[in-house]
Amino acid sequence: MKIQLGCIAGDGIGPEIIREARKVLDKTAARFGHEIVYDDLLLGGASIDAHGVPLTEETITRAKDADAVLMGSIGGDANTSPWYKLSPDKRPEAGLLGIRKALGLFANLRPAFLYDALKEACPLKQSAADTGFDLIIVRELTGGLYFGERHTREENGQRIATDTLVYSEAEIRRIAVKAFEIARVRRKLVTSVDKANVLDSSRLWRAVTEEVAKDYPDVTLQHMLVDNCAMQLVANPAQFDVVLTENMFGDILSDEASMITGSIGMLPSASLNETKFGLYEPSHGSAPDIAGQDKANPLATILSAAMLLRYSFDLQEEADAIEAAVVKTLAEGYRTADIASGAEGERVVGCTAMGDAVANNTGGKSNEQ
Ligand code: NAD
Repeated sequence: MKIQLGCIAGDGIGPEIIREARKVLDKTAARFGHEIVYDDLLLGGASIDAHGVPLTEETITRAKDADAVLMGSIGGDANTSPWYKLSPDKRPEAGLLGIRKALGLFANLRPAFLYDALKEACPLKQSAADTGFDLIIVRELTGGLYFGERHTREENGQRIATDTLVYSEAEIRRIAVKAFEIARVRRKLVTSVDKANVLDSSRLWRAVTEEVAKDYPDVTLQHMLVDNCAMQLVANPAQFDVVLTENMFGDILSDEASMITGSIGMLPSASLNETKFGLYEPSHGSAPDIAGQDKANPLATILSAAMLLRYSFDLQEEADAIEAAVVKTLAEGYRTADIASGAEGERVVGCTAMGDAVANNTGGKSNEQ
């Protein structure tokens, strides 16, 4: 397969982690007989430096022309970077919001997976960490409370603020379809999270999700109230496979889910539109405090590249190979400083050596077969 990838290295540690992800992608592509062509695109601070704005029409057009986009991270140190002297609409983050909107990315996927080798970092009680977990949060990204009408007025000397939570049937259906499609290539369980005991929007969410479920008889659907889900995520995260939820609930639950893995440098993410197109990036930021020092953990970006192969190109075996290489590399003791615990057998390495180790393990399996 020939794959045309838009590639946004971005700012801070972005160029370092993207370099390692490309190393792993290229090795995997060579092993499975694919060709990846990269188109380097500017966004965020790098685009401000080159063009004076965080996002150009050219970047949007070229991103749309690509089959998918792989991104490092954007942004700088808000206290010291000149980018933050600009008005908010000209700062690096405005570029990210702008490209997500321009590409129609309405589905946000954030997996939370506990690696055997990193169980020590899990803040949950020992039994939950020992069982492990492997779940993915599918969050609606462009509707709900964050996009509804809002206003603040004054009445009888009191300020009264209103935010509106709106969802149409079509918005719910398209995100539910994504969740069921993803469950099909995983353990075939969708937990739809809502507040249907109180909210009309949640009752519609539940009704439409049940309609969509009829098209996926091989996938089990269960409903859970959001307050219960928040508790269950820390009590027994192993029960979840795909967690489907609306924008605000997803915002909160996906942060909770990332915390229970204990390591931000390990968490990939994807944002998808209605086609197979997606923007894939680590969940962490540009870590300006360690930029250019070969200290960054590239694994979240490497795992984002695996998600890209899985969700935009249906290359399951190739994605599995990258994820297995990460597991193997951790089992061999390789750690960047952020995930090192000081335990015996650990080999603390920099960003480049970690990328090399994963790339070697990606190819290694084929030699053994
Ligand atoms: P951050 O995630 O960049 O850093 C938080 C802490 O985690 C830092 O100590 C950092 O060194 C560490 N860290 C993060 N990623 C790491 C990695 N891969 N390896 C090792 N350590 C890692 O969050 P922040 O400091 O709040 O934000 C820094 C900049 O990143 C800001 O400009 C912010 O706007 C931006 N940001 C961008 C994105 C994105 O591009 N999607 C997301 C979040 C923040």
